[in-house]
Amino acid sequence: MTNQNMGKLLVIDDDAIVTETIGILFDQELTVLSAENGMDGITIAQTELPDLILLDVKMPDMDGYETCRRLQDYQETASIPIIFLTAKNESTDEAKGLELGAIDYIAKPIVPQIIKARIKNHMTQKRQRDELENLSSIDALTGIANRRRLDEYLETEWRRAARNKYSVSLMMIDIDHFKSFNDTYGHQAGDDCLRDVASAIAASPQRPSDLVARYGGEEFCVVLPDTPEESGREIAERVRASVEDLAIKHTGSPEFNVVTVSVGVASAEPANEDFGFYGLIKIADEHLYHAKNSGRNQVSSKS
Ligand code: GH3
Ligand code: MG
Ligand code: MG
Repeated sequence: MTNQNMGKLLVIDDDAIVTETIGILFDQELTVLSAENGMDGITIAQTELPDLILLDVKMPDMDGYETCRRLQDYQETASIPIIFLTAKNESTDEAKGLELGAIDYIAKPIVPQIIKARIKNHMTQKRQRDELENLSSIDALTGIANRRRLDEYLETEWRRAARNKYSVSLMMIDIDHFKSFNDTYGHQAGDDCLRDVASAIAASPQRPSDLVARYGGEEFCVVLPDTPEESGREIAERVRASVEDLAIKHTGSPEFNVVTVSVGVASAEPANEDFGFYGLIKIADEHLYHAKNSGRNQVSSKS
């Protein structure tokens, strides 16, 4: 079983003894994945997005350098740090690996204490970098993901869904009559309202892979990977109801007297579409427009 909080290490080596040893060394601390060749390693890296990759230089078929090059060609795996594993008696060119972007070399045969310390160091550094990056991925007012993070995430998930042939759903959410809320209660109350609505939306999806983001102003987005339209619509309805249930008084809302949202839902199987992730945003936006025109406080989707 994979523990969400444990770091993930991928070992790509045709020598099973190496992968097994590392698996045992980090049994309690990391989720260790392994692949026997470059191609399988790339596939696992793309689906599992490990925090760190240990890559053997000398392998039959595709060697470590080529595997490294390919990993860096894919946007999703390009930033995963790579450590090369080299046998002492191999005439490997350290400079070549470092030029390719490897962050370190570890010599074989592996010495447990040394490899353990070095991998731990790199994992800590990776975690610190991720935290730093997070600082600029979060919307300061609401504390949820920002537009930048949304675009990045949606693009990644779109590609992953194209490869794995599943669908992605996207929700576009807009607060109803929010201009009049600000006009009635003031901008400060408007900000408080945005925070409350963001929390309500964030509480609705269930899976760790679902992403809730502030798209801008009083608009929010939810990305639901591997989710068909019907489930997307159900979750959207839950979002709509949970905002209404907040019962935030809004006398400027002629129909409802409380703060409500309208939601547009779009779903697609990227493998079958000729548009990119941006097309999905466009479709969700069209449905949102439809929900607004049909009376607000409702969900609109294709079916
Ligand atoms: P509709 O039901 O059609 O969506 O009407 P609306 O009034 O919500 O839409 P409109 O786009 O006309 O107005 C959006 C308002 O959201 C205008 C702006 O003052 C307010 N807004 C956007 N960002 C913020 C923010 O960060 N804080 C506050 N308090 N208000 C914001
Ligand atoms: Mg708006
Ligand atoms: Mg609005």
